[in-house]
Amino acid sequence: MTAAAPAASPAPPQVLLAHHLRQLKLPTFLREYEKVAAEAAREGLDHVRFLLRLAELELIDRERRMVERRIRAAHFSAVKSFDTFDFTAIPSLNKPLTLELARCEYLIARDNVIALGNSGTGKTHACLALGLAACQRGFPVSFFTAAGLVHQLMEARDERRLLKLQAQLAAVKLLIVDELGYVPLSQTGAELLFEIFSQRHERGSTIVTSNLPFEEWTTVFGSQRLTGALLDRLTHHVHILELNGESYRLKQSKARRRDPRPADEAIAAADPETGEITIAS
Ligand code: ADP
Ligand code: MG
Repeated sequence: MTAAAPAASPAPPQVLLAHHLRQLKLPTFLREYEKVAAEAAREGLDHVRFLLRLAELELIDRERRMVERRIRAAHFSAVKSFDTFDFTAIPSLNKPLTLELARCEYLIARDNVIALGNSGTGKTHACLALGLAACQRGFPVSFFTAAGLVHQLMEARDERRLLKLQAQLAAVKLLIVDELGYVPLSQTGAELLFEIFSQRHERGSTIVTSNLPFEEWTTVFGSQRLTGALLDRLTHHVHILELNGESYRLKQSKARRRDPRPADEAIAAADPETGEITIAS
């Protein structure tokens, strides 16, 4: 009789635990359990409280990772929030309404938001901040400029994947279309954009920003009939933000010229080339 081969020594429990936690997709548990175990021993926490602390850490981290994922998926042109938005710089903007919108209930009601105003008044900043708030509250967002969206729609149509893109755009909880009005659209472009707004009507919220008052939207869409039908849908359940006033950047650079010394942290943080202001939150 031959001697039995020696049994393989069992893997140490730490190795198995690490494997199981990876399988269960609990990276924070894995990263933190030794540290939290040491804390628990020091503080005399029982096993339930030890597990509770780890579970809380995992939940907080998971939420943060999901927000980050939504922000990446939204393709924002920049990440901006209302923390860095100076409401006193734009008195025409209804601050209570804007902050109410930042709570995202309009997304549940599937209302739209239209931000109108001349250039540099913070329309893009405001719609980015609303987009960020939506990501933070768990809503999927897609951000486009009007010209960029039309370009993508035309490209998708040429490559015979328009239906797929339309379905994706119809499904997103919040679609942001920035800068409608800077570039007049071709007839096809106008029709494709109209179709998107039409498909989203009462299904999901859309934010549109424009430098043009409604009366002038015909210059973008070409046809009066199409513009009428579009406004009819977009403004059915809508919150209008008015941002009329002096350009924020222009005001900042005028302030800099009047007093070349940095007047406050915000001005000190202005990029000398672009005039981009970074305000410490
Ligand atoms: P618009 O889209 O209306 O042309 P932007 O949102 O692009 O204007 O604003 C131009 C620049 O000024 C951006 O860098 C933006 O962050 C900043 N800005 C505009 N308004 C404000 C404001 N009220 N508070 C803080 N920054 C602002
Ligand atoms: Mg803009």
